[in-house]
Amino acid sequence: MKAHLAVIPGDGIGPEIIAEALKVLQAVARRYGHTFDYTQALAGGCAIDAVGEPLPEATVKACKASDSVLLGAVGGPKWDGLPGDKRPERALLGLRSALGLFANLRPALLYEALSDACPLKPAYTRGGLDLVIVRELIGGIYFGERGRRTGRFGEEGYDTMAYSAFEAERIGRVAFEMARKRRKKVTSVDKANVLENSRVWRAAMHKLAEAYPDVEYEDMFVDNAAMQLVRNPRQFDVLVTGNMFGDILSDEASMITGSIGMLPSASLGEGTLGMYEPIHGSAPDIAGQGKANPLATILSAAMLLRYSLGLADEAAAVEGAVQAVLEQGLRTPDIMSEGCTPVNTRQMGDAVAARI
Ligand code: NAD
Repeated sequence: MKAHLAVIPGDGIGPEIIAEALKVLQAVARRYGHTFDYTQALAGGCAIDAVGEPLPEATVKACKASDSVLLGAVGGPKWDGLPGDKRPERALLGLRSALGLFANLRPALLYEALSDACPLKPAYTRGGLDLVIVRELIGGIYFGERGRRTGRFGEEGYDTMAYSAFEAERIGRVAFEMARKRRKKVTSVDKANVLENSRVWRAAMHKLAEAYPDVEYEDMFVDNAAMQLVRNPRQFDVLVTGNMFGDILSDEASMITGSIGMLPSASLGEGTLGMYEPIHGSAPDIAGQGKANPLATILSAAMLLRYSLGLADEAAAVEGAVQAVLEQGLRTPDIMSEGCTPVNTRQMGDAVAARI
């Protein structure tokens, strides 16, 4: 296969972790006889410094012209003083929206070798933990009408949360299809006891569930889901939810797996083009010191192989290589524990690439 990727290293540890993911993709290309080439594009703080805006038009164009996009992370203290719409993080919302990436997939997988890093009692995660949160990404309250107005108590801010049956069904379908390839269970999370948009969401999910009789389906209120995630996370296979609920629950789920440096994500739209990135940020506190864990970015590259390029064996080879280096005891500082071998960012990337 020949594939063309847009690569956005971004800020902070972004360039360091992207370099390791590209090293692993090159190893995949060599081993399986593919050709991957890359266009490097600017986004975030480095784009503000270079051209005065966080998401240059040239970057959007480069992404649209690619088979897929791999992103490191954006942001940092240098740009913290800028107004909201000029900040590096605007590049992420802009890219998701420009590329029509409505579905965010965040797997939360607890590796046996890292089970010590999980903050829950072992009894809650015995036998492993493997769930996916499917979050709607370009609708809901983050994209609704907002503003300031004079209310009963003076000036107030307001944000609007709206979901159509179309949007719920579109993201629901992603969740049901994913469940079919996994343990065949979907939990739809909403707040239908209070919110009207959740009632529209829930009715659309029920209708969709009829088309997937082979998949077990349940509704859950978001407050209960937050509790169940720490009480009994093994009950979940695929959780599907709106933009803000998904934002919050996916951070909670990621913490159960112990390290933010381990978790990948994929943002997908109607076609095969997607954007793949670790769930963590640019970690300015450790940038340039060789301390960053590149595994979340390497696992994001594995998701890219699976979902955008249809290369399931190659994706499994990357995931297997990551598991193998963890079992071998290699650890970056964020996942270090007694008796293991400390490695830096580059050594971790080398070790994964060598096992492909
Ligand atoms: P962060 O995720 O960058 O860092 C939180 C903590 O986790 C830090 O102690 C950091 O050192 C550690 N960490 C993160 N990734 C790591 C890795 N791969 N290996 C080892 N340790 C790692 O979150 P933050 O500090 O709140 O934000 C820093 C900057 O990143 C901010 O400007 C924020 O806006 C931005 N941010 C960007 C994204 C993104 O690009 N998708 C997401 C979240 C935050």
